[in-house]
Amino acid sequence: MAPSQKWERRWHPLREEWVVYAAHRNSRPWSGASSPVNTPAPEFDPQCYLCPGNKRVSEVHNPAYKSIYVFNNDHPVVGESAPTPEPYTFPNEVYQSGHAQGISRVICFSPNHSLSLGDLEVDQVFDVFRTFREQTLEMLKNPSIHSLLIFENRGQEVGVSNPHPHGQLYATTFPLRNIEQQCQLSRKHLKEKGKSIFDAIVENELADHRRLIIEDDLTVSFIPYFARYAYETMIFPKSNYQHLGQMDDESLRSLARNFRTVVRKMDRLYEVQFPYVLTVMQAPVDQNDHPEFRLHLWLQPPLRRPGLLKYLAGPELGAGNFMADTMPEEKAEELRNSRDRA
Ligand SMILES: [Zn+2]
Repeated sequence: MAPSQKWERRWHPLREEWVVYAAHRNSRPWSGASSPVNTPAPEFDPQCYLCPGNKRVSEVHNPAYKSIYVFNNDHPVVGESAPTPEPYTFPNEVYQSGHAQGISRVICFSPNHSLSLGDLEVDQVFDVFRTFREQTLEMLKNPSIHSLLIFENRGQEVGVSNPHPHGQLYATTFPLRNIEQQCQLSRKHLKEKGKSIFDAIVENELADHRRLIIEDDLTVSFIPYFARYAYETMIFPKSNYQHLGQMDDESLRSLARNFRTVVRKMDRLYEVQFPYVLTVMQAPVDQNDHPEFRLHLWLQPPLRRPGLLKYLAGPELGAGNFMADTMPEEKAEELRNSRDRA
């Protein structure tokens, strides 16, 4: 397909903001950093604090784990021992504070230091997702937890210093911003239109096949119409689940398979380990029913093309509006045509 000359703005329904697409600028010259070289890592690294048997900063030795290993983060962002801050002493209530209590965990996906989530077999990715489900069920039982974020940062490009395949979990006592905003917007949509905003998005994407990547009976992945990143991908179960705890094995396995194939297609596209931020987007685990929310996986890779990262600059940081120089339809076609890795 010839490079797009499209130039338009699209409404981001989950953020209530415009995204500007200026694909005609995509051919402008680039003289920045070159593509990062992926050097293969060893299967075991004696210096790695996540490898089996190694000592962590807390002096705890990891067990000789054989599959998946979950532990409380030694450097928690939110933790049970977080102190209560001093009362505020400002002239008005604009400044507020609170304790940073919660639960932070690390989830090692494999004992093999050299592998990434996309290298694992479908059954192993399914096991990782079952662990996500177990963690979700545990947090659902904890009345002090409001929101749950399970995520994987992959690649140096998103700040990961340790290549050992792992994800993290933050369970917070306060609402997480994106989840809260999406609940509010979707609740309004559900009330006014009779369907959640997520149902509307999936309906639109299924009706217009151009942005789909992989679809089977149970799951669909696509680059949304309003994507802010070139290869930003959402993966939805076709049935409506608020959180992983509601998913049966068959649907969860399909989700794992779809995700794994998408990641392998990304890796194959430029023959580099594709950097991304994966988040499992779930309704708040706050003991309330959330018919407005619909579970999905959200992949935000910062790569625009080999060696070219999307940096947040003036428009994004100043105005809060993303500027994209690629079209979601073209990027989805690239991923559809990219072969699953052998
Ligand atoms: Zn390791």
